[in-house]
Amino acid sequence: MFLMTAPKKLRGNAIASMERPFDSFLKMSKYAIHKSEKEWLTELGEKRYNILRKKGTEGPFTGEYILNFEDGTYKCGACSIPLFESDNKFQSGCGWPSFDESIKGSVEYVKDTSFGSVRTEILCANCGSHLGHIFNDGPTKTGQRYCVNSLSVDFRNK
Ligand SMILES: [Zn+2]
Repeated sequence: MFLMTAPKKLRGNAIASMERPFDSFLKMSKYAIHKSEKEWLTELGEKRYNILRKKGTEGPFTGEYILNFEDGTYKCGACSIPLFESDNKFQSGCGWPSFDESIKGSVEYVKDTSFGSVRTEILCANCGSHLGHIFNDGPTKTGQRYCVNSLSVDFRNK
């Protein structure tokens, strides 16, 4: 029995000491919500974690909210703050839920130069989770198209 439990304990200590520098990084984070990547993964599950925390993109025309036009609010899939109102959702045909405006102060904008193009990434301003990208080709009066992963948000009926 002793041989079986001792290595496990050692492993635990090693992980705890490795995580210490990361904890101090978290304290410097500008976001209101601080969680380790391990906590996020446990909470969100692999599919949502890869999009929200690893900036992944769900396949076009696969998300559950593309054709959802019910009245309600779209909240952050990671921290639940309200991000978009259904009044601002429009059918873009681009394959992802699209909005022409976000709830004031809820979204953060970051320049993204990945995949050889310059785009603007949109993040939850409360927890820093990835939502999608914003483009200036929207058909409504705001001229903007917030292109959002369904997996990045949770819809709540009014
Ligand atoms: Zn959030």
